[in-house]
Amino acid sequence: MELSELDYHFKDLFENTNDLIHFVQLDGTIEITNSAWLKTLEYSENEVIGKSIFDFIDPECVEDYRTIRQSSITESTLQDIKTVFITKSGKSVNLEGQVACAFKNGVPVLTRGVFKNTTYQKKTEKRLSESEGRAQTFFNNAPDAVVIINHQDIILDWNPKAQKIFGFTTDQVIGKTLAETIIPERYRESHLRGMKKFLETGEGPVLNKTIQITALRSNNEEFFVNLSISSVQIDNDWLFIAFISDITENKKLEEELVNKEFELLQTKLLDEKKGEFLSIASHELKTPLTTVKTYTQMSLMVAGRNNQPVLVEYLHKANSHIDKLTYLINELLDLSKIEVGRLRLSLSKVLFNEYVHDIIKSLKDITPQTIQFEECPSCYVNIDKVRLEQVITNLVSNASKYSPGLDHIDIRCISTSENVIVSVQDHGIGIAEDKLQKIFDRFYRVKEMPTGFSGLGIGLYVASEIVKLHGGKIWAESEINKGSVFSFSLPLIKAD
Ligand code: ADP
Repeated sequence: MELSELDYHFKDLFENTNDLIHFVQLDGTIEITNSAWLKTLEYSENEVIGKSIFDFIDPECVEDYRTIRQSSITESTLQDIKTVFITKSGKSVNLEGQVACAFKNGVPVLTRGVFKNTTYQKKTEKRLSESEGRAQTFFNNAPDAVVIINHQDIILDWNPKAQKIFGFTTDQVIGKTLAETIIPERYRESHLRGMKKFLETGEGPVLNKTIQITALRSNNEEFFVNLSISSVQIDNDWLFIAFISDITENKKLEEELVNKEFELLQTKLLDEKKGEFLSIASHELKTPLTTVKTYTQMSLMVAGRNNQPVLVEYLHKANSHIDKLTYLINELLDLSKIEVGRLRLSLSKVLFNEYVHDIIKSLKDITPQTIQFEECPSCYVNIDKVRLEQVITNLVSNASKYSPGLDHIDIRCISTSENVIVSVQDHGIGIAEDKLQKIFDRFYRVKEMPTGFSGLGIGLYVASEIVKLHGGKIWAESEINKGSVFSFSLPLIKAD
């Protein structure tokens, strides 16, 4: 068959089709190829005509091509074929088409190949299957449970995480409804209603939102989850994808936090009530005590004037007990002020040595021990004179109280560039090392103390609060049966 025999239309079709067409002699020599063939495989006519067709086929496909082509000759049938040709620059081109044999007077003369280039289609398929693969990887490894249901609420698929969270195997749930598997009974109706409403109106209360709800495990245990549902329409059917995360642990933490807050609130309320009670109780006690004190002092004057020494002695004793009681009530009153945050300072600038001297002078009258005072270089501090006197008095009273029968107490002042430090030292019963941190706690008293030391365990707590309010620190050093040193520091007023 000569090419000149082709009629005009056939020639036009041959040259202008997108299909790749070649005519090959029985021995495989290329007789002619069309433009699409040459263009796709990047050759010119000269480079192709007279060459073997098998030189243009991917070596891996040559055998297959040869066999199919042979069948088209021997069986005289149109043979479908998928093959790969190689371009001049070495690229693979996927071809799909038919090979057939042309006969002249019943004798085979040429084979004809007509192919479509499916390379692009193949790439797209590959890309699609890659993205499907990626989706599948995400589905399998998602940190949340992913459950896919259809418009009838039937579970179509769920991922390994869902299996882990809910405890059902995939086989146990596929084909069942979401309502009958993981939704607690009391929510089932509203869930189905929600789906129905969505299918009718396109609106759903839980769609594209994250809500907190409970779900059921296979062992019927109800637990908290975060749930968000998205909808997709595929082939006129609605699919719903539910993303579910188990928040049992978060809920537990949340509950613990709420409980702790509640406890704190209770403690705070209790503290406030306590403060209120102490304040009222102290006032109620203080008023009659002041009256008793006044009458005792008046009686003392009268008894003195009337020369009644026994009465004077009794009244002196009564007076000193009234003082003790007043001291304790004042401690309670201060404590209540601290509890309700009402202990305030009234600060003034003070020459420190002079100030401590005056306090010691008044303490000397009531302390059986002699008090030795070592001054520091002259310096100024900003203090509440009454409150700080209370601190020094407390430390000296304790030093005196807890060193019975001993003859002296030492008070030392030293100054650093920033602070003045006051130390009160006794040589009494001392405090065990493991108790030293606790003695500044309210109501703390050393249990192992010898008997006969009265007190409420408030003085040091109040003293430490007063020192802290001044911006200072308080601490103690001690050794059992050797004595204690209580010190506090106060910030100095800078020279300028
Ligand atoms: P109290 O009214 O009991 O003396 P404080 O708060 O002043 O209360 O002191 C708390 C506790 O610290 C005391 O009960 C006592 O056990 C111990 N303490 C305080 N000062 C001294 C000291 N100078 N020597 C030994 N123990 C002391």
